Amino acid sequence: MRTSAAAPRDARTCTRTFVHRASNARRPRARAPSASTTRGGFQADERVDVVVVGAGVIGLACARELSRRGMRVFVADRAPAVGLGTSARNSEVLHAGMHYAPGSLKADFCVRGRRMIVDYCEKKDVRWDNIGKIIVASEESQMDDLEAMIERAMRNDVDDLELLSAESLREYEKNVRGFAGVWSPSTSVVDTRELMESFRRDCVRDGRTSISLGDEVVEITPAGRAMYRVKTKSKVIAAPRIVNAAGLHAHRVCERMAEVYDQVATPPPPLYFARGLYCTLKKGSGAPFQRLVYPLPRHGGLGVHFTKDVFGNCKFGPDIEWIDEIDYTIKPERVSAFYDAIREYWPELPDGFIRTAYTGIRPKLINETGDEDEPGATTDFVIQTEVDHRASGVVHLFGFESPGLTSAMCVAERVCELLE
Ligand SMILES: Cc1cc2nc3c(=O)[nH]c(=O)nc-3n(C[C@H](O)[C@H](O)[C@H](O)COP(=O)(O)OP(=O)(O)OC[C@H]3O[C@@H](n4cnc5c(N)ncnc54)[C@H](O)[C@@H]3O)c2cc1C
Repeated sequence: MRTSAAAPRDARTCTRTFVHRASNARRPRARAPSASTTRGGFQADERVDVVVVGAGVIGLACARELSRRGMRVFVADRAPAVGLGTSARNSEVLHAGMHYAPGSLKADFCVRGRRMIVDYCEKKDVRWDNIGKIIVASEESQMDDLEAMIERAMRNDVDDLELLSAESLREYEKNVRGFAGVWSPSTSVVDTRELMESFRRDCVRDGRTSISLGDEVVEITPAGRAMYRVKTKSKVIAAPRIVNAAGLHAHRVCERMAEVYDQVATPPPPLYFARGLYCTLKKGSGAPFQRLVYPLPRHGGLGVHFTKDVFGNCKFGPDIEWIDEIDYTIKPERVSAFYDAIREYWPELPDGFIRTAYTGIRPKLINETGDEDEPGATTDFVIQTEVDHRASGVVHLFGFESPGLTSAMCVAERVCELLE
């Protein structure tokens, strides 16, 4: 069993604490900033136009776009290198956009974001592969779901899906069995590491952006009108704008802005964690499929699917396990359920074919039961701005699970529009 360090505190606890503060603060009570936090009342190591908290794929995409638009940006990440969070623990798929509710941020960002990333990869020579994906309905009873997905795709402007019979499924992938399926020719994979490295290079090239690594943001306080004092482990930064792109820790960063949030109108959405395990193939095994192969989605995830990265490395996963805190533990006992899930579309999967590899954690804004009546619960991404929390120039990004990678450049564009 491999275990990596769990986060020091339960982020759900943080959320609860935070919501409590927020409700106290709904009274229209202006908090006078203390002398040490008024404009000019503190010594800043740097003054910038925007601080971005988090150098994952979304934080980097935001920093790059803000910088391109002429802003001086300071990016802080507590990790020793960029992109070591969720951005390093995913399927690396550029989704086409058939899975998301029409009109949702996920649908909009995914469909436009995929095209933006593909154009970017072409221009910058970042590895990507237009590998395509097959979605399998293993039984006749799943046909309604398959048809609903096609209908949803059309409404999301994804018009290249092709319905496959059981026979054509086998022609596409000789190992796949199913009642019917869908072929998505525009689903692709990208080298996430290379993409983030390219964003990082773009950020620092023009000299307007600096990226401070191993540098956790520990406190954000108001410092006069429309100005914030951002304290990291190593510096104090003054900035009128903040982008909270801290991924799984975005709620905790909110907590560290408690003063900024004293007049909050809408608290952050509830937060839950759903861990996903990936498995690779036994050493020496050949790829069972040429393309990506998915079952139909289920609550919380897209199902245990097969992906092949730009280097030809194959994996199955992720599964879904609801957990209480950020904890990347790998549980070997979960592998047996992988066999059942994969055999729904590949009945000939041999015993002993897969090995545990790594886990990723989805920041969920809806609980395991899918209870949409819970205040603030949603399956969509949430972007909170001044309209929600009354702190000018502050943008929070919550719930950026899949398709967050695909959406990154589109999210960046939206964040810039909100801050300009
Ligand atoms: C299992 C799984 C599979 C997925 N598969 C796909 C997929 O195939 N396609 C797709 O489009 N999307 C996928 N996603 C979603 C995608 O990976 C995420 O949406 C994306 O990586 C989120 O990027 P981020 O920058 O918001 O978060 P992260 O990459 O987690 O970055 C946040 C950063 O903030 C830093 N940070 C946190 N707190 C602080 C602090 N106080 N101070 C400074 N820094 C801080 C962290 O160190 C981290 O580097 C998947 C997600 C999961 C979990």
